[in-house]
Amino acid sequence: MSEFDIIRDYFGTQRAHSPSVLLGIGDDAAVIAPFHAFPTDSDVHTTQLVVCVDTLISGTHFPADTSPEDIAYKSLAVNLSDLAAMGAVPKWITLAITLPEFDPVWLQRFSKSLFTLSKQYDVELIGGDTTRGPLSVTIQLMGLGRQPVMTRSGARPGDWLCVTGDLGGASLGLELMQANEQRMNDENQFAALTAQDRSEALLRLNRPEPRVHVGQLIAPYASACIDISDGLLGDCRHLCQASKGIAEIEMSNLPIFAPLIKKVSADIARERAMTFGDDYELLFTVPPHQLAALMERVDGEVLISVIGRFVDEKQVQGPHEQMDELIRLFDEGELVDISGFSKTYDHFQSG
Ligand code: ADP
Ligand code: MG
Repeated sequence: MSEFDIIRDYFGTQRAHSPSVLLGIGDDAAVIAPFHAFPTDSDVHTTQLVVCVDTLISGTHFPADTSPEDIAYKSLAVNLSDLAAMGAVPKWITLAITLPEFDPVWLQRFSKSLFTLSKQYDVELIGGDTTRGPLSVTIQLMGLGRQPVMTRSGARPGDWLCVTGDLGGASLGLELMQANEQRMNDENQFAALTAQDRSEALLRLNRPEPRVHVGQLIAPYASACIDISDGLLGDCRHLCQASKGIAEIEMSNLPIFAPLIKKVSADIARERAMTFGDDYELLFTVPPHQLAALMERVDGEVLISVIGRFVDEKQVQGPHEQMDELIRLFDEGELVDISGFSKTYDHFQSG
């Protein structure tokens, strides 16, 4: 089985056929006519190409025994989440895959899952690269946004800080998977969780639901947005850095994945909801006069929680030694010391 047979049998099976794809898999490169693909925008000059890429490495981004279905799903979903944060419409993907060996069953399951999710979000595979080595999957996603696309940098003092969905579910999912691996899944450890809690937690980890549609809905109202793949605090810092301001977060308003509170104490659940990551929700800011319109627009799509405010340095009050550089955490209005929290998942952090 050569690289070319793998491409033909597993990735070339579902040809891109939307009119924007002039040339898909099979030549030296794909050819797309990007601005003819936006069905609702005839003005080419306000349409922008939005591009992102993400690599998932076995053992680093997912446990080695993760199913091929989940690996395919997550590789695409993390990219969809990035475009969601820009409010863009995802369109085309390329896939660079490195495989340790030729495993037809694995490839069949992987490609089937990839095509299922692609179809669900209306994206088409138009090219890629296939190599041999330790398992890794890189997907590049291209989509279209309306000018100006949402970015991390538009927040203004006084804007509300909001988050979609709930947080901490992926951390519980990982705990379950790790316990399974070590055959520690004894009834005592997870006794408080129902079977449904467990499967929900695993879904949060392995099948995060990218907020693509919600991103498009909030884009006309939100001033800044980021997806919180690295954890609320870590990604909130990025938004603050880009928007040059400070976030004040009221922890009692954080939406926490309900089963997590059954397994760990309220304090630990909170910390995990803020720092663990892998939840793939959107964190965004919205000017006060736009909040009602945004809520109405998103009504019924997903839970939106107002968790705080984006403020100017000058407006911040409180003893300086308790202040983190860019984020102030409050508990029922009381400023909390957060110096002990790990703020983001850093791949190159020691230990
Ligand atoms: P080249 O050597 O010119 O880079 P390749 O032999 O790597 O071309 O790939 C041949 C064609 O198959 C190209 O169109 C490429 O985009 C596509 N391709 C290769 N691997 C994949 C993959 N995993 N998924 C989708 N398309 C792929
Ligand atoms: Mg190649």
